[in-house]
Amino acid sequence: MTHKIAVLPGDGIGPEITEQAARVLGALGLDLEMETAPVGGAAYDAHGHPLPPATLDLAKNSSAILFGAVGDWKYDSLPREFRPEQAILGLRKALGLFANLRPAILYPQLANASSLKPEVVSGLDILIVRELTGDIYFGQPRGVREVAEGSFKGERQGFDTMHYAETEVRRIGHVAFQAAQKRSKRLCSVDKANVLETSQFWRDIMIDTAREYPDVELTHMYVDNAAMQLVRAPKEFDVIVTGNLFGDILSDEAAMLTGSIGMLPSASLNASNQGLYEPSHGSAPDIAGKNLANPLATILSAAMLLRYSLNEAAQADRIERAVQAVLEQGLRTADIHEAGTKLVSTSAMGDAVLKALK
Ligand code: NAD
Repeated sequence: MTHKIAVLPGDGIGPEITEQAARVLGALGLDLEMETAPVGGAAYDAHGHPLPPATLDLAKNSSAILFGAVGDWKYDSLPREFRPEQAILGLRKALGLFANLRPAILYPQLANASSLKPEVVSGLDILIVRELTGDIYFGQPRGVREVAEGSFKGERQGFDTMHYAETEVRRIGHVAFQAAQKRSKRLCSVDKANVLETSQFWRDIMIDTAREYPDVELTHMYVDNAAMQLVRAPKEFDVIVTGNLFGDILSDEAAMLTGSIGMLPSASLNASNQGLYEPSHGSAPDIAGKNLANPLATILSAAMLLRYSLNEAAQADRIERAVQAVLEQGLRTADIHEAGTKLVSTSAMGDAVLKALK
């Protein structure tokens, strides 16, 4: 069966890094049909919109999207609906991408890149599963109103609404339990159930969902404690599942434990495992077009694409082993370079991964 993959390079370093990831996908010997389309600022320049209809159609009709990055300071003065980031929000909405998977892996060869002591963090391999389309970020009503009573009566007040429906919690729960089944079978659900009704409801539904996964050990942690434990003993975690707000913060915290943003992949999935795969970093306009960017986060995103959308776990392992091998050979792009290692360009890193695949 031919799998269609939409390749959306975007802006800044996007084209350089997706080129390397597409080369790696193309070298696996799978039946893949890759089609490229503009997105973000590049699409605005060419077609007057960051997510043109043809790009959206291609994305909808593909098994998966390999996404580079979008954004550049030169688009900052555009009206909000034309800004490059709207393309990501538009794709999430159109495809119903409710589950965001962000692994934080610290390869032993890069242990010095972390601000934590190597013994605390070396070999770290955790996965944060964040709900992406609900919670206080989307809850209505929201806005600014006049306070009706109490000590602040008559003042202006900003407000938002936090809520989660049962289906929203269950479906992200299933994604997280199934991810845990493929790993060490431990899942930690993070909430603030001691204070928030929404969180207590979240916890109750997680406990109920756990009955379908007797092989996975479910634990619970308050978000403030989770933020502490992530810097105290991050290797105690395996899979973490949490809501949109807490996940936004914890996934960035976990990413920074690794100290190397150029290494971190991500996936956003819908209920039929159609997904958008992108590096966790942005478009890095400061180094764009210079063949300096680290393509490994995007290459590792391609590995996630194979594992989660195409059900090709063995090929995903193959890419991840190739990345390990190039690090073992001492090859480093500028962002992860240190004394005693060999500085290479974006394309040379891609070449090395291709060679290591064989
Ligand atoms: P950024 O992640 O683009 O860059 C932060 C720093 O990390 C820069 O110094 C950059 O050179 C470096 N860096 C990032 N990726 C790298 C890589 N692969 N290899 C080597 N170095 C790398 O974040 P920013 O500077 O805050 O934002 C730049 C633009 O990217 C903005 O327009 C922002 O809106 C956009 N952005 C897009 C996404 C996305 O497309 N999902 C995410 C975040 C930021």
